[in-house]
Amino acid sequence: FSKDVNHCISKKLVAKAKDTLRSIALEDLQGIRGRVTVRKAQRRSLHTWNFGLLRMFVDHKAKIAGVPVIFVDPRNTSRTCPSCGYVSKANRPTRDEFRCESCGFAGPADYIAAINIAFRAEVNQPIVSEHSILQGQASPF
Ligand SMILES: [Zn+2]
Repeated sequence: FSKDVNHCISKKLVAKAKDTLRSIALEDLQGIRGRVTVRKAQRRSLHTWNFGLLRMFVDHKAKIAGVPVIFVDPRNTSRTCPSCGYVSKANRPTRDEFRCESCGFAGPADYIAAINIAFRAEVNQPIVSEHSILQGQASPF
């Protein structure tokens, strides 16, 4: 099941990036299972989900489609306020919720993390996957 869903997700991600002439930014997932903390009830499904496989599918399909993939440092992506930059575990009172303790900026936690990942891909020196360099594709950033 997860393999089919991962194929479906990666296919849609890459198609959208290609259609809109964008790159894909991903957290460098090495060690994600040790980093993510969730309520006990959710642990089983999270730990059995194959994030590594999803990343591999996205990278592979992006390579075929000529879409650049940028891997960014995953630290604190779900604890950093994209509005003021304040980093705190308290910014994320629940798994699904983000609320900045400093400026009050709030939103769905996954969406906030995605904003931070995109921002890091733009401003940091990204780790660009090898195929993007080999094919001479300039990043739009
Ligand atoms: Zn803030």
